[in-house]
Amino acid sequence: MSRPAGFSIEAHRRLVVKVGSSLLVGRDGLIDTAWLRGLADDIALLHGGGHELLVVSSGSIAIGSNVLGIDKRRARLEDLQAAAAAGQVRLAHAYQDALGVHGIDAAQILLTLEDTENRRRFLNARGTLGRLLEHRAVPVINENDTVATEEIRYGDNDRLAARVAQLVMADALILLSDVDGLYSADPASNSEAGHIAEVAVIDAAVVAMAGETRSDIGSGGMATKVQAARIATHAGCSTVISSGAIDRPLHALAAGGRCTVFRAKGTPAARRKQWLAGVLEVRGELSLDQGAVAALEAGNSLLPVGVVRVAGSFRRGDVVTLLDPAGREIGRGLAEYSDEEAGRLTGCRSEQIEKKLGYRGRSVMVHRDDLVLFESGVAG
Ligand code: GLU
Repeated sequence: MSRPAGFSIEAHRRLVVKVGSSLLVGRDGLIDTAWLRGLADDIALLHGGGHELLVVSSGSIAIGSNVLGIDKRRARLEDLQAAAAAGQVRLAHAYQDALGVHGIDAAQILLTLEDTENRRRFLNARGTLGRLLEHRAVPVINENDTVATEEIRYGDNDRLAARVAQLVMADALILLSDVDGLYSADPASNSEAGHIAEVAVIDAAVVAMAGETRSDIGSGGMATKVQAARIATHAGCSTVISSGAIDRPLHALAAGGRCTVFRAKGTPAARRKQWLAGVLEVRGELSLDQGAVAALEAGNSLLPVGVVRVAGSFRRGDVVTLLDPAGREIGRGLAEYSDEEAGRLTGCRSEQIEKKLGYRGRSVMVHRDDLVLFESGVAG
């Protein structure tokens, strides 16, 4: 059976929606609140239908440049950082206003490159995002442009959105753009340009096509969208480029609107586990009691109470081996604690963690999303 055309939002539960500056901010540097209200209506509908949504929104520099009277084209880095600071507060406010109409809480998260590239920081960002989704808030994410300098920034929110999708194990990444997908050539200058509905493999030909088209307000363009699609699809997250230059863009997409779909390779959980299983650098060992082994096999996280012994030298975010009571390696995972902290917490019930450590810690030793079990193939 051939696949239906378009993209089924309905079939994807956790969605990351990326909004580019050119959609949200006019050339006058003001937020297009009518458009944003439409987007919020779409988000509210999906949210009400049980979907989890995260928004990665650009716009802080464009908005803030207008507020501070900075000419973006001539501005120095410090000016752009200042613009981002003034713009971000307005951007966040606009989202809260638009989502608040529907009784939805927006929650601002500003990320730097380190937050997704460094495993310790990755666990922090992921923990917070996960908790926000449990509270049914909608995270509104941007790069922390105020502290990011050229060498240490993503620079474009397409790739940031893909990293966020990977971080939260999203099922789909929707890149709202000023065009409705990828074309074989630039549709603005070439009437022969053909729309590509689906990309099975991101090969050199696809990358070359992306090089042809560029939007001029945002720093992204098609090239970074294709790079984003590569990151996300490898993490098991389907990626869509669709038009945001219309009212109610998610509604239009759900109704079969034209777009380019990059299908995911596997599921987010399977891809995360494959990655974990293949990591060569294992830094330590946690020996588990039988109760913990059973809990993991049932798909739960590893709690400190089930750990009887800690060995090796590891930090939070490092990969550790999990041993059963007979000393057999049953799996591996990312440690939420260092070896020293884990040692203090062995056998400790979750409510005793704060007393043992002297500060409020995390309730799990290894989160179930960061865990792979060998042989049994359960946990996920
Ligand atoms: N983070 C930048 C901003 O909010 C935008 C980056 C991009 O255009 O992708 O202005």
